[in-house]
Amino acid sequence: MRAEGIETARRILCVFPRYTSSFGTFEYAYPLTDGVQAFMPPQGLLLIAAYLPANWPVRFVDENLRAASDEDFEWAEAVFVSGMHIQRQQMNDICRRAHAFDLPVAIGGPSVSACPDYYPSFDYLHVGELGDATNELIARLARDPSRPERQVVLTTDDRLPMTEFPLPAYELAEVRKYFLGSIQYSSGCPYQCEFCDIPGLYGRNPRLKSPQQIIAELDKLLECGVTGSVYFVDDNFIGNRKAALELLPHLVEWQKKTGYVMRLACEATLNIAKRPEILEKMREAFFITIFCGIETPDPDALKAMQKDHNMMVPILEGIRTINSYGMEVVSGIIMGLDTDRPETGEVLMEFVEESRIPLLTINLLQALPKTPLWDRLEREGRLIHDDDSRDSNVQFLLPYDQVVDSWRKCMEAAYEPEKLFARYEHQCDYTYRQRIKVPVTPEQKSWANIKRGLIMLRNIFWKVGVLGDYRKVFWKFALGRLRRGDIEGLIASAMIGHHLITFARAASVGQHSASNYSIRLREAAVPAE
Ligand code: SF4
Repeated sequence: MRAEGIETARRILCVFPRYTSSFGTFEYAYPLTDGVQAFMPPQGLLLIAAYLPANWPVRFVDENLRAASDEDFEWAEAVFVSGMHIQRQQMNDICRRAHAFDLPVAIGGPSVSACPDYYPSFDYLHVGELGDATNELIARLARDPSRPERQVVLTTDDRLPMTEFPLPAYELAEVRKYFLGSIQYSSGCPYQCEFCDIPGLYGRNPRLKSPQQIIAELDKLLECGVTGSVYFVDDNFIGNRKAALELLPHLVEWQKKTGYVMRLACEATLNIAKRPEILEKMREAFFITIFCGIETPDPDALKAMQKDHNMMVPILEGIRTINSYGMEVVSGIIMGLDTDRPETGEVLMEFVEESRIPLLTINLLQALPKTPLWDRLEREGRLIHDDDSRDSNVQFLLPYDQVVDSWRKCMEAAYEPEKLFARYEHQCDYTYRQRIKVPVTPEQKSWANIKRGLIMLRNIFWKVGVLGDYRKVFWKFALGRLRRGDIEGLIASAMIGHHLITFARAASVGQHSASNYSIRLREAAVPAE
């Protein structure tokens, strides 16, 4: 549904801020693609855009693709911004630019909802999810589009049920320019890991859309031109297992009907390995990747962070089980935990080797507001505020330099090309072979699709196979794939692998932040090519 009953139309400019260069946005892979320029379409802002009254003209600008222009600001009567902590400086910059045109600026999304005081310059703070605060914001702008005299904070008390969410306005985004499509089925997570702000922000009882909404969203994504990979951005896809089981048959049916046009990915807790009935359906629905916050292989550390649910099956066994359903595991890893010892880096590297996981996001512990970790460290006097020279706001128990040094060594070792491609080789030969055989669709046989593949192969062969300094390792891997006729495995592994190797090399010499949450202003942007 949309907001209703508003006669006066306002022109709204929705601006999504640039990401500071980070490991998880794959920007070094973009030059190997056929024109990808940004990571994922932002769900939140596209949802708000769709919720605005039907007679309100909306423009959407993702500054990862292009900057909002003077003409955009001149056109608008109000500006909406949304983003995460990592985009804080960019959001404040958008506000400054909009104010130069005397426009009122509203900010919503996860960062302002957790930390309203990060955003003193904005005219309207929208704290919380879509709901009564959103209606109030729309009503105020309809009444008066000028900037209020002082900041207005609107907090959602009454959330709109997710079953009443409109379909995100994917049609406003240039979806073909994104690395991944995105979709959301649920919000919230029943667990309470010490470092995580999801339960505090979105609750422990996951809220849900209906399977029919998800199917309608997939149809819309397809209509807008998304094929390839689509990521369920749910905090935990099995936060409500019954709901996941309800959705999956619909996804299977949709994939069969459309010829498996989309490869699906999601985030879920590792204890999904105990649920063969879910894994089997996911396999049938063509889920090919699951991001699991493994965090650490150390049982004491998992206990200390209240992530015992990661030990419901032995971790390596859990990974192998997921792999046996054709799904690659991507793992989050945290360093700088209170339980870390000087040898933690080495233990982690053994885990990387044994698990054969190619892609691990390795970050330093960061205390986020609205988390039990934040409260504990505040009590212990171990939160560090306003020190831009650090990559974490946590006073570690080990010396800071030692932790950062260990992180750099881990990045270097984990993404050493030979080792990385050996892990990919295992995934291609074992995990990917467990996937269902999907039919070749007319879309896949189309000249446009063949051309896409050829462009990517040309880019990979030229930029990695000829110009790359790890070309020997690459060719050993690539020839193996070509001999097996595994072009898809070759393209996917080479593209992601190139990003991982390039990013890790820069990280190991201190050119990248050791935390995805760090707001240190690096070059703020390896421009997406
Ligand atoms: S399981 Fe994941 S989403 Fe849930 S509280 Fe833990 S870290 Fe957060």
